[in-house]
Amino acid sequence: MASRTTDPTTERSARRGTNLPRVAEYNQVLVLDLIRRSPGTSRSELVQRTGLTMQTLSNICQRLVTAGLIRESGRVRSGMGAPRIIYEVEPTGRYSLGLHIDPAQLSLVLLDLAGESVHSLVVPTPEAPGPSHVFDLIEEQVDVLLTEAHVTRELVIGLGVATPGPLDVEHGSVIGPPLLPGWGHVHLRVELAQRLALTVVVEKDSTAAAIGEIWRSPRDAENLAFLYLGTGVSAGLVLDGETLRGSAGAASRLSHLGNIGHLTADPDGERCDCGGRGCVSVASLPAGIVEKAVARGALPSETSTSNARAVETALLELSRRAEVDDDPGAREILDHAARGLARVGMQLANLLDLDAIVFGGPQWPAFAPSCLRVVPELVNEHFVARDDHRVEVRGTAVGGHVGAMGAASLAMSVTMFDAPGHLYLG
Ligand SMILES: [Zn+2]
Repeated sequence: MASRTTDPTTERSARRGTNLPRVAEYNQVLVLDLIRRSPGTSRSELVQRTGLTMQTLSNICQRLVTAGLIRESGRVRSGMGAPRIIYEVEPTGRYSLGLHIDPAQLSLVLLDLAGESVHSLVVPTPEAPGPSHVFDLIEEQVDVLLTEAHVTRELVIGLGVATPGPLDVEHGSVIGPPLLPGWGHVHLRVELAQRLALTVVVEKDSTAAAIGEIWRSPRDAENLAFLYLGTGVSAGLVLDGETLRGSAGAASRLSHLGNIGHLTADPDGERCDCGGRGCVSVASLPAGIVEKAVARGALPSETSTSNARAVETALLELSRRAEVDDDPGAREILDHAARGLARVGMQLANLLDLDAIVFGGPQWPAFAPSCLRVVPELVNEHFVARDDHRVEVRGTAVGGHVGAMGAASLAMSVTMFDAPGHLYLG
């Protein structure tokens, strides 16, 4: 089962305020959210958009200013009346953390209240099997990040974690992720919340990447698939401007939302365990592509595929040989992979009437030249609604930290804007 939950970038034009005193907290959240989305909004515009009285609105704005969450950013004069006061959020008022656990590296970002990344760091994921070394490292690196950014822990309202699936969204647990050796049933949310004394939300890496993408480049009612190229390949889906998030529905049920592993990438490819042929999970995985390149002599025979980092290094070398050395063997292997991803993109585009396919994830830099050369034309050639509109194909606008950025914006959204109790100002 999937649920469409409100995400940080959705314009909630239907949300209106109410003048009843007991819902003051709700109103505060609503006003703060509107100011965050539309910096430079005036008090009279806020009255119009919320339906609150000017008196109630003025009180709320005053409380938000006192709490250090918004600031007056100027006054505009229009016509004969008094100048209108305009507001923007105080970026340093609150922060959220975003963590991306990739089998090759851990990325950590610090997001301010205005949604900007103020600091980030990347460290290699410990090779020791099991999660305890990873938790120790996360705890240490959160301290490093906050110290370097000169941000005190009290101003951090939550941590979002992006992780490979499968994921029990309700309990914030990963259960035997195939790409993280030695990880069994790991209660990520509980463990990290205890260690860091923070509210923690957990999301699948591809979904977090989609959230990060539309957080930075919001477009109204867009249908978008974020094809996430990590150690595996998966999709984050945005329908009608809202990120589709997995929900277990029942305690015993894991979310496999965005698992595109058994869409067909290569109709002539090898048999897959599912009974199909040339599925993404056999034809398009980075490790398999590197092995093929070694077998064909496009990479040296001593090339290692023993862990995620080795695969990433090898794939970048293959890409360098294709693009810089103009090696036709290397280029054909990557172009073939890109045609497989294009085929997956076509299936998603036709099913979901996509406006855009966005690529990103740790392995994206190696795939980028081939994908940007091959995918746009192939997808649009086979797109059934091509007479109506094209499918835009692009690389992520957020860059390498898109998973961590998405996780941080989700944490900001959940703790600050979906749970009014957190904004009790007294
Ligand atoms: Zn399959």
